[in-house]
Amino acid sequence: VVAAASLGEFERIARYFAPLAAPGGLGLLDDVALIDGPPGQQYVLKTDAIVEGVHFFAGDPAGQVAQKLLRVNLSDLAAKGAVPVGYLLVTALPATRDERWLEAFAAGLAADQAAYGIGLLGGDSTATSGPVTLSITALGRIAAGRAVLRSGARPGDRVFVSGTLGDAALGLAALKGELGRLDAASRAFLVARYRLPQPRLALGQRLVGLARAMMDVSDGLAGDLGHLCKASGVGASIEAARLPLSPAARAAIAAEPPRLMAALAGGDDYELLFAAPPEAESALAALARDAGVPLTMIGQIEGGSGVRVLDERGAAMSLAVTGYRHF
Ligand SMILES: [Mg+2]
Repeated sequence: VVAAASLGEFERIARYFAPLAAPGGLGLLDDVALIDGPPGQQYVLKTDAIVEGVHFFAGDPAGQVAQKLLRVNLSDLAAKGAVPVGYLLVTALPATRDERWLEAFAAGLAADQAAYGIGLLGGDSTATSGPVTLSITALGRIAAGRAVLRSGARPGDRVFVSGTLGDAALGLAALKGELGRLDAASRAFLVARYRLPQPRLALGQRLVGLARAMMDVSDGLAGDLGHLCKASGVGASIEAARLPLSPAARAAIAAEPPRLMAALAGGDDYELLFAAPPEAESALAALARDAGVPLTMIGQIEGGSGVRVLDERGAAMSLAVTGYRHF
């Protein structure tokens, strides 16, 4: 008998859970589930769990842990163009967590509820002898049939990404003491990008009708684009030189060039990754200016399957790591 944990996440889902999926589960191949709401509306559902020692450090500020937990769920709603409505919360806490920790955790949620205009709908709370384990199920809404799924990309579409890539993975490396030679301001920026993702909700809503397929970058660009391509039945090529980098990431990569892998395969950026037809380019440029968030064309959708990453000379790079590995 093989240990359940030794099956990869996607293999485990495909073998045991995808056969259980309802029609609205989209084959468990998308970021969310869609179910019919009031006339003309659909509900968008997303759930995500995080575990101490796997997704966050035991010493991380509780308020930021709460905000990251909520925001990674909101990011998936953003990637469909949905408007968040509320969320359910499950906490499993060991006796080592006191009321001060809970107070800070709840304060983090309160701040984000105000920021995103949502509220807690319910949940459950239990004790555990294991590490802190937290789960949120987020509920959103969207006009029926308008959600931007992963499955709509077509050959000839351009591949775009919002914001900058690699910051969060570099921030995690900094927290683990692996990044050398970096100024304090750059380090603080990268760590904040790791701890406090910014779900692109407003941007995602405005990409409805422009993007043909969309998802968020949570596990790393190359792997996530691979999932989008698989759902769409297409391939893609991206140019490494086009990857949008923050000044801090640029500095970290200049000091240690192999750190470019953070932008290609590092997790936790929670930017939007989408495919759009060439004729959408001027509308996208206007949207980026208007929203104050860069939208960068990084490659294109092709026939076939799989993701090729090209270097400056157009040669295919081999990726040692194509998806996020938890610390
Ligand atoms: Mg996602």
